[in-house]
Amino acid sequence: MSLSYQHHEKSDNPRFEIQNVPLPDLGPNDVLVQLAVTGICGTDFALATGKLGPTRRILGHEGIGRVVALGSSLNKDDIPIGQRVGIAWIRDVCGRCQICLHANGSENPRCLRQLHSGRKFDGTFAQYTIAPARYLMPVPEGLPDEVLAPILCGGITSYKALKNTGATPGAFIAISGAGGGVGALSIQYAKAMGYRVIAVDAGEPKRQFCLDLGAEAYVNVASERDAAGAVKAATQGKGAAAVLVTAGSGAAYNASLNMLAPFGTLVCIGIPPPDQLMSFHPLQFIDFGYRIIGSCTGTQTDLLEAIEFVERGLVKPKTLLAKLDDLNRICRETAQGKVTGKYVIKL
Ligand SMILES: [Zn+2]
Ligand SMILES: [Zn+2]
Repeated sequence: MSLSYQHHEKSDNPRFEIQNVPLPDLGPNDVLVQLAVTGICGTDFALATGKLGPTRRILGHEGIGRVVALGSSLNKDDIPIGQRVGIAWIRDVCGRCQICLHANGSENPRCLRQLHSGRKFDGTFAQYTIAPARYLMPVPEGLPDEVLAPILCGGITSYKALKNTGATPGAFIAISGAGGGVGALSIQYAKAMGYRVIAVDAGEPKRQFCLDLGAEAYVNVASERDAAGAVKAATQGKGAAAVLVTAGSGAAYNASLNMLAPFGTLVCIGIPPPDQLMSFHPLQFIDFGYRIIGSCTGTQTDLLEAIEFVERGLVKPKTLLAKLDDLNRICRETAQGKVTGKYVIKL
């Protein structure tokens, strides 16, 4: 039997409960992973509301654990028992869809089959999970579990989004939603990659938090009537070479375009509810050469690169340790925008 978080009651206030469920069936090419910790990501709560489509009952996609059993087609030369692995959002890729083929056979996290944790696979809010061996993600020894877990989604997403900006080191990057889990990691990665960070978020308590992480300035959208103007002022009138929108609200997206410098890139990461849209006039793009791109987690290579920043001490995930029973409270606080930093659950 495996102790798992299950969520039910699709609504704006989803509830999680702990249940004992049988261990999942192990296919011939699967491995069984015993999880030590799991991070909690805003996407889990968005999934739990049911607004992002059908889900499995067990969510979670930032698990760190070890392989404890192999499927019948595998042996210890393929994967050693005890191998430390990360169980992230992408559990597998099909290799055959239009996106996988476009990636020339190499992995692509946008595989159209969306073989995601919590969607097509039971997630990591559980003591055990299964993973297909061919997409297993070994992670290095050394760093504590709770430090590594946030890199599996928040860390790799931040790092890949910054790579995708194409901005020159030394350029200003604005991070919208900077006080949240992904935002806090984005501040640290951006600084470590040589960028100058303007943190954008709502409320004064997040100001010192963002400055302590390495932001040069903080723009409080709750009190600042012209947030874009404040970003321009903080960047010596230039505007930001890129804005990373990690906040999941349409309002955050709408405010961000005017923060850009000419030829700047707006990078979409945060996922607003389906009814919150971004609106713009095409002339902004024609006149200023803005780009809008979406960034979607990253590849296994991106993950290993992102982990190296943590190993070198340049990125220090700020984690708050929690227990199984705390999930409903954390869910509420996240929905209310009250969480600064990243929750990790010891399993
Ligand atoms: Zn996530
Ligand atoms: Zn595919």
